[in-house]
Amino acid sequence: MMLDDLEVINVRLPLAAGGGLFKLRIKDGKWSSIEAQEGLVISDRHLPISKLNFDELRTTREIDLQERVLLPGFVDVHMHLDKAYSIAHVRNRSGTLLEAIENYRSVVPSFSKELIRERIIKSALRAASFGSLTLRSHLDVPFHLGREVAFRTVEAALEARETVKDFVDIQYFPMYFYDSANHRGITEFAEETLRMGIDGVGGAPHLAPDPEAGIRWAFELATAFNRPIDLHCDESDDPEVKTIDFYCDQVLLHGYGGMATAGHLCSLSAMAQKEADRLIGKMADAGIGTVTLPVVNLYLQGRGDHGNVRRGLTRVKELLKAGIPVAAASDNIQDPFHPFGRGDMLQIGLMTAYAAHLASEEDLDTILRMLTHLPAAIAGVPEYGVSTGNPASFVVLDAGSGEELLQELPATRWVYNKKRWIYASELKQQWTNPIAAFLP
Ligand SMILES: [Zn+2]
Repeated sequence: MMLDDLEVINVRLPLAAGGGLFKLRIKDGKWSSIEAQEGLVISDRHLPISKLNFDELRTTREIDLQERVLLPGFVDVHMHLDKAYSIAHVRNRSGTLLEAIENYRSVVPSFSKELIRERIIKSALRAASFGSLTLRSHLDVPFHLGREVAFRTVEAALEARETVKDFVDIQYFPMYFYDSANHRGITEFAEETLRMGIDGVGGAPHLAPDPEAGIRWAFELATAFNRPIDLHCDESDDPEVKTIDFYCDQVLLHGYGGMATAGHLCSLSAMAQKEADRLIGKMADAGIGTVTLPVVNLYLQGRGDHGNVRRGLTRVKELLKAGIPVAAASDNIQDPFHPFGRGDMLQIGLMTAYAAHLASEEDLDTILRMLTHLPAAIAGVPEYGVSTGNPASFVVLDAGSGEELLQELPATRWVYNKKRWIYASELKQQWTNPIAAFLP
């Protein structure tokens, strides 16, 4: 049900300067005013959000948020929706990246298009129910297993996006050269998928036999279609693995600053300080965006270490200090690459706070930005955030401050997107299956 005119009072905006409470108005689905309140407003006209069931919520034009936090919809900029929730079919005994890849590859031909489509729909809708309203998913397109297997995932992904488009936006970046970009016909395949509606070019050059050839190939493809590139980079504990070096060269060569993203960058943490400084400086010059994937790095990396096991994740603080955008994202959810997770960015925020030592009062703002504004910039989301004129796309969380978000990980959330409330985990009646709540 459309509800594009709305007024909410007693709102906490932890990302706004000054703290305090706010009164916000939405007109035609856009923020039309953002006003700081003098203090708590007592109003009979505004109905308390905690008392509204979902049907009442969808028709009430004046709502009292009762001092709860409101954030722009989270942007989960690095996911694998096609693999999510596959753990019942494929596990990982060693907990290493290589076993995860091998095991997944051995079963992927047995996954039907319908099964992959259902997994994407489920994981995207669950993410939306937690407040993530823009998702970027990498896709497994194992071209060496045949065109049909590779196209199956692309078709499933595009169909799933169509099914959930009224709830959440999805961008797709297939990992075209996970193994090698040398397979006959792979360029034609990739071009065809970009014409079908795929958004950008993905890959994992550190896993390819010739990383530089793979990166060059990615740029030829991306520049021909003027599409962004998002590569898995150096997901390894080995300090000698540094495909980011050549990636930066190519970003500079092609003027791809702002259009290129590097995920993981684990080996950067294992390098000597001088070499890490050189690469961080180069990334800043190139204008590359970065994504840290703390839960998956903590799970997959450091598996050869004993005693002081490395954390695996990249140098988050140093990258931020160099002015490089660093987003935090989910990566894998309940699959052989990561057995836990649910697409909840608050969990990711909490894990980032621990793993990157970002837990002071000032760091909290950084963590919240790594889940919202920074990934929005990396994903190129237009008109993002709670500002006048921007589309109103937000999540209300059952917490009274930004800090409480990470202290309590509140389960109760209300999600508004595309001119209507799309989800509410009601206090009395928790929906365990968002899909059932979402679809008519
Ligand atoms: Zn990934």
